[in-house]
Amino acid sequence: MIAVRGYQGQKVAVLGLGRSGLATARALIAGGAEALLWDDSPESRGLAEAEGFALTDLTRNMALEGVACLVTSPGIPHLYPKPNPIIARALELGVPVDNDIGLFFQSWGGEEWDEFDQVPKVVCVTGSNGKSTTTALIHHILEVAGRPTQMAGNIGKGVLSIDPPRDGEVLVLELSSYQTDLARALTPDVAVFTNLSPDHLDRHAGMGGYFAAKRRLFAEGGPDRAVIGVDEVEGQYLAGQMAQGPGDDRVIRISSGQKLEGFAWSVFARKGFLAEWRRGRQMASVDLRGISGLPGAHNHQNACAAWAVARTLGLAPKMIEGALHSFAGLPHRSQLVGERAGVKFINDSKATNVDSAAMALRAFPKIRWIAGGMGKDGGIASLAPDLAPVVKAYLIGHSARDFALQIGQTPHEICETMERAVTRAAEEAGPGEVVLLAPAAASFDQYPNFEKRGEDFTRIVRALPGIAQP
Ligand code: ADP
Repeated sequence: MIAVRGYQGQKVAVLGLGRSGLATARALIAGGAEALLWDDSPESRGLAEAEGFALTDLTRNMALEGVACLVTSPGIPHLYPKPNPIIARALELGVPVDNDIGLFFQSWGGEEWDEFDQVPKVVCVTGSNGKSTTTALIHHILEVAGRPTQMAGNIGKGVLSIDPPRDGEVLVLELSSYQTDLARALTPDVAVFTNLSPDHLDRHAGMGGYFAAKRRLFAEGGPDRAVIGVDEVEGQYLAGQMAQGPGDDRVIRISSGQKLEGFAWSVFARKGFLAEWRRGRQMASVDLRGISGLPGAHNHQNACAAWAVARTLGLAPKMIEGALHSFAGLPHRSQLVGERAGVKFINDSKATNVDSAAMALRAFPKIRWIAGGMGKDGGIASLAPDLAPVVKAYLIGHSARDFALQIGQTPHEICETMERAVTRAAEEAGPGEVVLLAPAAASFDQYPNFEKRGEDFTRIVRALPGIAQP
């Protein structure tokens, strides 16, 4: 745990008692603050009480009187579409509103660091897609290189729950736009922006607000190095703002698809090869095509981002290349879960929207596609250009019939359930094809979350006769 500094003997209100809220409460108490805890849901309050925490009703009129700060969870709207009433009250009273990420940066560092040979560093990863994969990949590369490292934030544990840093440690944090928007302190050593596509727009009052939230990671204090995906105009803009010009190597531009040779430092992937360029010279070239944990151009973008970070931390190309090969991939993201007679079964249950499903569809040449669930606004008609590799679609869930109408000439079958979809796809698939779960829809009609959906797919695949597990 990291004890929170700066609030000793003061009252700090904590709104939202999920995983990060309770971790925040413990860290505040460890730092000598008085934590006033509340959650709008009786169920979460019950869980907090069961852990021995006392509650304070923050909805009461005078509840925020004398409070030094209100700390809230990412799931609670703090501004748009409209602030939670308790947050609105804090804003009215001028009580600062922060989150666990802000508290963490405020509390990071200490006297014990005087004894260290190498000061610990923080790498933060944000962007619309690929955050978790990039974060986990950086962490994996550091582990392989033997550097002390921990991973936290939106992945794994809450940031205030990490162990106290060791000499030379690198902490890798995945940060969502909600987290970067609200944190009052944001001072990473290395910051990564993977890419940008519309998401969570209601919470940010549109695309401009969404981009502004992510950019804060680069604005508040400014990282020593910025690794920026420049495949959208927003990334190009951000890179331009961070650098004195193309010759400034504090910015490392990354791309999946573009050749970036005219910059002081760049890492890009084209046709399955990663290249690192520095001051007009190629420093490394790596064949990514056979790396089973990182299939597809989208994962090659993630590989470029992780490569760039590892290079800024002084790791050698050979070491990083070896680590890319041993990366197993994250569950539910282009994850190989079984193989039979030349047919691969891939679980990308995390592809809950059209953009991420498109990425998965671009990663394989011949696809038996399992899709459907709780469809999102806008439908899937925009997937049309990505359906060429789909040999046949097996449609499940609430949106099955809707999706059938939107995929035009693509052969398909309404299967309703995962069990039937996997069975039918497995029966019909031939060598060289993949059976891909990339639903382009939320899971809530049939499952509690995308993880459970991916686990169900994996279970059914692994029960097929003659299946080999990776
Ligand atoms: P995040 O943490 O940002 O949601 P993940 O690494 O969990 O990202 O990947 C989520 C989904 O997005 C994956 O299932 C994959 O299909 C897709 N994806 C992964 N990396 C990228 C990328 N660099 N660009 C676009 N889509 C991606």
